[in-house]
Amino acid sequence: MIDTLLQALRGSALKYAAGLPDTLVAMATAAGLTLVVLLIEWWVVGWKPSSLARIATFSMSTRTDLLSFVLYNSKLSLVLGALMSFGLTYGLLLALKSLVGWHLTIDHPMLLAAAYYLALEFFHYWFHRWLHVVPLLWEIHKYHHSARDMTALTAFRAHPLQLALGGLWASVPLVVIGAPTSELALLHMLFRVHALLVHSNLPFNWGWVGRYLVQSPAGHRAHHSQDAAHHHTNYGNFFQFWDVLFGTALHPTRAETTAMVTGVPGTTGDERPVRYVIDIYAGTLARAGRVVAQAFGHRQKPGG
Ligand SMILES: [Zn+2]
Ligand SMILES: [Zn+2]
Repeated sequence: MIDTLLQALRGSALKYAAGLPDTLVAMATAAGLTLVVLLIEWWVVGWKPSSLARIATFSMSTRTDLLSFVLYNSKLSLVLGALMSFGLTYGLLLALKSLVGWHLTIDHPMLLAAAYYLALEFFHYWFHRWLHVVPLLWEIHKYHHSARDMTALTAFRAHPLQLALGGLWASVPLVVIGAPTSELALLHMLFRVHALLVHSNLPFNWGWVGRYLVQSPAGHRAHHSQDAAHHHTNYGNFFQFWDVLFGTALHPTRAETTAMVTGVPGTTGDERPVRYVIDIYAGTLARAGRVVAQAFGHRQKPGG
């Protein structure tokens, strides 16, 4: 265990230092893309309902999203996630790579990209669904949902532990199918802009495209809605068809979308940003401890 943790620490630190120049460029690109989406949203919906107006209040919810922007785009979330999982996600990733010593051979770049992203979205769909239905995983995912002032910046609000677990799970299609080539950087950028758009306050449901193919801002707002009628819907990341196929798709109208209240019932969204990351983590560990203790206790009971 200690060896795995030390290896994770060393591996993460070396990897982080080597990639720092690229990380800074990626961070500037993310800031630029975010700014463009914020300005477009302001232009379309006007000032009052815009993300910029909410960000300007500098509320605790916005501060949490700004911290998330820095942690996510500086890739510090990945280092924190490796530490928070006690190096296990990093160790399991190495084990997975060495265990699966082969991958599919798809020579055509577009075919490879299609196979990879279809599989990735399928994996993402189920991971996201489990984040909602497994109580222990909901502890860490509610961090993303608790944004009281949901803005485009909320796209970056993911708990480091969720990123570590999700990264490990999403590495299965990467190991088996192989990574799409770098010529697909534009496609990658499209996915990033899409993530910003669906967390913005644009009320569009994109018609039949949003109903069947690509998740719309209205669709993702429903996923963040406090209304119980909207719970457990729209788990997809980019595509909508996995939700259609697995019976979790919801396609709200514009009027329904603008009336939605986002956030997690029982939380105010006013938690202090750094403290909140730690509290969610401590809460998850405590809950995991209780689950393990309960399982162990049951096994100890005679005939139990
Ligand atoms: Zn969710
Ligand atoms: Zn979201």
